[in-house]
Amino acid sequence: VNPKEGVRGLVKASLYRSGITPAYHQRRNRRSLTVVMFHRVLPVGDPEWADTEAIWTVSDSAFRECLEFFERHYHVIGLPDLHRARHDAGELPDRSVLITFDDGWADTEWCALPILKAAGLPALVFVVAGGVGEEELWQESIRRAWRQGRMGAVQCADLWRRATQTPQPVAWDGYALEELIQRIATAAPDLRSGILAGLPSWTGKPLRSQMLTEEQLRTLHSAGVSIGSHGLTHVPISQAADPVEELRSSRSRLAAMLKVPESEIGSLSFPHGLYDDSTLIRAVEAGYEWVFTSDKGLHATPRGQALPRVLGRLNMDGPQLCAETGKLRPERLASWLFDRPTLQLKAA
Ligand SMILES: [Zn+2]
Repeated sequence: VNPKEGVRGLVKASLYRSGITPAYHQRRNRRSLTVVMFHRVLPVGDPEWADTEAIWTVSDSAFRECLEFFERHYHVIGLPDLHRARHDAGELPDRSVLITFDDGWADTEWCALPILKAAGLPALVFVVAGGVGEEELWQESIRRAWRQGRMGAVQCADLWRRATQTPQPVAWDGYALEELIQRIATAAPDLRSGILAGLPSWTGKPLRSQMLTEEQLRTLHSAGVSIGSHGLTHVPISQAADPVEELRSSRSRLAAMLKVPESEIGSLSFPHGLYDDSTLIRAVEAGYEWVFTSDKGLHATPRGQALPRVLGRLNMDGPQLCAETGKLRPERLASWLFDRPTLQLKAA
């Protein structure tokens, strides 16, 4: 343990417990909107823990503690509240927080939803439309196989050769692996499907089916959870061979699965948080009213002023926010959320 970190941690905890940090937040962030981003929620000690990426995962108990934290320090709002604030000249409450989930993991339905329902809180889930009913997203198959040691340099080099003519990475590490995933993602569709068809022989299978089924998606929706798009294939939209297809088909497929008009899928979050100006414009042209990025900051909500349509989000990073036991450290969450800069993102 770094002793300096230890002292800083103690100071943070005491400032939080004594009410100084919360009082600072009350003033500083009174007219602001915070959007938080979860990915996976799993029971403590679940066998799937070993299969997951820690920074994208929190335990069920930490998730429950996060909700308590939001209720203590914020007003939890849902997508309909954003709509009202935009269209009916309404206003968001002081210190609003919007809870979002990315990807459409099955555990959003079987683990997070019961906790949200017990707390009576709304949420917005961004779903990879092409992932619904799939056992696992192929990108995740590669990451999992890497973590589990099923794929090493030899397999990676082989996949790279099949996906691209460009020179191989100098060494195979986590960054090179992401490069490989990107090369496969942006390969020509025929080439890509050929590579992906052979993938399970390298990667093996996950412990259980990872992505929402259509039925689970409908369960979320009928429980009042708002559903948005997270693209069709989880390829960064700015790098996709056909970005318009990613934006439009994801929306129409989700609407068809939920038997709702397309206009109800009015929000989008960018896979991997990646976007550029033209992606933003295309998203708006495709009919998305709300576009969520992974830019780290808060949004000012001054009275009488229209809400921005492009909103950044703060990732709820398990290891940053929780003790090693998986228990939430509220003072860490406070400094993670309260002190962020105010963003001004625009659809140019
Ligand atoms: Zn994602």
